[in-house]
Amino acid sequence: MKKLIVVIAVLGMAALPAAMAVGGSLADCGTARLKGYLGERLDAMIANHVAATDVDYITAPFLEKTETKRWWQTEFWGKWMHSAVPYLGYCGSEKLRALIDRGVERMIASQELNGYIGNYPDELRCGEGWDVWGMKYTLMGLLHYYDWKRHEESNNSSRLSSNISRPTSSAALDACRRLCDYVIAEIGPNGRRGRELWQTGNWSGYASSSILEPVMFLYKRTKERKYLDFAAYIVKGMSEPEAGPRLVDLALKGVSVADRNGYGNTPETGGGYVMKHNRWKAYEMMSCYQGLLEYSEELRVKSEELGTGREEVERLRLAAIKTAEDIVKEEINLAGGSASSEAWFHGARKQHLPYVRLQETCVTTTWMRFCEKLLDVTGDPKWADEIEKTFYNAYLAALKADGSEFAGYTPLSGGRYHGQHHCYMHTDCCNANGPRGFLVFLRELFRTADGVATFNFYASALVKETLPSGRAVAFDMYSLYPRDNSARIVSHTTGPLKLRLRIPSWSAKTVVKVNGAAQQNVASGGYFTIDCDWRLGDIVEIAFDMPVVAHVREHHVAFTRGPVLLARDSRFADGDLMEPLRGGIRDGQVQPAFAAVRAPSDDLWMTFAATLPLGSHHANPEGRLPATVFFCDYASAGNTWRRDDFYRTWFPVELGP
Ligand SMILES: [Zn+2]
Repeated sequence: MKKLIVVIAVLGMAALPAAMAVGGSLADCGTARLKGYLGERLDAMIANHVAATDVDYITAPFLEKTETKRWWQTEFWGKWMHSAVPYLGYCGSEKLRALIDRGVERMIASQELNGYIGNYPDELRCGEGWDVWGMKYTLMGLLHYYDWKRHEESNNSSRLSSNISRPTSSAALDACRRLCDYVIAEIGPNGRRGRELWQTGNWSGYASSSILEPVMFLYKRTKERKYLDFAAYIVKGMSEPEAGPRLVDLALKGVSVADRNGYGNTPETGGGYVMKHNRWKAYEMMSCYQGLLEYSEELRVKSEELGTGREEVERLRLAAIKTAEDIVKEEINLAGGSASSEAWFHGARKQHLPYVRLQETCVTTTWMRFCEKLLDVTGDPKWADEIEKTFYNAYLAALKADGSEFAGYTPLSGGRYHGQHHCYMHTDCCNANGPRGFLVFLRELFRTADGVATFNFYASALVKETLPSGRAVAFDMYSLYPRDNSARIVSHTTGPLKLRLRIPSWSAKTVVKVNGAAQQNVASGGYFTIDCDWRLGDIVEIAFDMPVVAHVREHHVAFTRGPVLLARDSRFADGDLMEPLRGGIRDGQVQPAFAAVRAPSDDLWMTFAATLPLGSHHANPEGRLPATVFFCDYASAGNTWRRDDFYRTWFPVELGP
């Protein structure tokens, strides 16, 4: 037995990517190698979407420079790089590597002498539209490349290729510097265009102000004071002007994200879709808080050195946390999705109604990124709960079965379909953004910090990290979760180590066993720590408490099981999905009528049968009998993207006189 375990350990670990778990690196893809259902979905997405992207097509606008409508063709490459670079570390695809190199070569070639990289004519630059937003993503893309290339150059022996290809990391960083210097010269504190950064672009300055995140990334890599000064200027613009983004004071006052119009700006509720002054755009708002958290972390380091400034750090951090808590309370639905037409609308309380353009994939992935940053900054596992809910529902629902594209919007009831063609191009914001969401799940699945190892998520995966001491820790997890309720973790680690397991808040009674011995004091909504002297082959088993639970809103009911929202799908051909349930189901009530059953086809991940009181004819002896109908996980519902397939998650409950 012992020999067998050692063999498994050696074979299993050999398959892991060796070196990309570089803390703080934008090239970081974590150290989990997914297997099973999720592993297949990720592999398909990388192969059929990320590595199938036509990099010449998405970089052509930078070389052609034909923009006249102030649109956003210049966001697609940077977003793509944001996931392409970490996934290169995950899969090692030579094809992907060549695409990344070629894209950066073309981007650098497109840079003007003044530093500008974009496609706007000079008279339209740094003003209305999405020019600054595009430069934000270009900075992001180049900085991702820089981190990857720097890592490769410092190892000087790429496992992918014996020759390190061009461009170099320093060429990429130089291009970033020059681009950021251009923005500072045009619309920085004394910019020649005579306007403030927050006054450019849309949504009261949200879109342009979100450049803060890559500006902080650039500062952290160059340590040049001018970039930190520029970041401080952006934060000032985010906070102080009465008609600006007001991301700090409105948050600290507890103004809900859907109610932040007014307050000194001009709410244009009846105008064209792209609105100059509204403050309700979900994606752009959350992108600003990403940057604000990066900035506050830098201030925190400095305040610890200087012994002052802690109050400002806490103020900024609290603004981000209070905003995210408000989003959870007011906006996030049972699928972990949010926003209608990309705008906040108190959607959590209206989720049983058919709102227009629900759950834009950009909002879904940005919410996951925001939660990831909060998890890193606060260590609070409630943010991992949110990532998990969004990932298994809204996120996987948007990802086409073959991994090749993302839906633009994903309704809670209806059908799934292709996204949009944006800016005269055969792509859109959501297809560019989508792959970044899986990365959040992948990176946060297993983490080590301060010598403590943590599992945030449960999926079949091999994980391996090297502690600062140089010691390797590794585990092999086998799990069908959340299709079933358990996970089994085999140790490939020797010696003392604290291993933390996230216990989701919805699991009331979780059982954890170490080598068969049940552990005490396993509490939901926190981490359970196993502090032991590990041997190869030690086994940890976890069983979650995940009954089906009813959720009731204004004569509608929906059902969840653990983190998963359940749906009826027309493919089951088991009756009218709008047929009302009879009254009597209470909010929070456990539903023992649901049982896991064999799925009728491979395209459904999980299937349940439920015998429920359906239909209005309960005066009739036959009609009063319950009916057995089928449910699947929300992400599998409608995943054929066929127009004659449809699904439903919120079901009407009949009304009385
Ligand atoms: Zn989008």
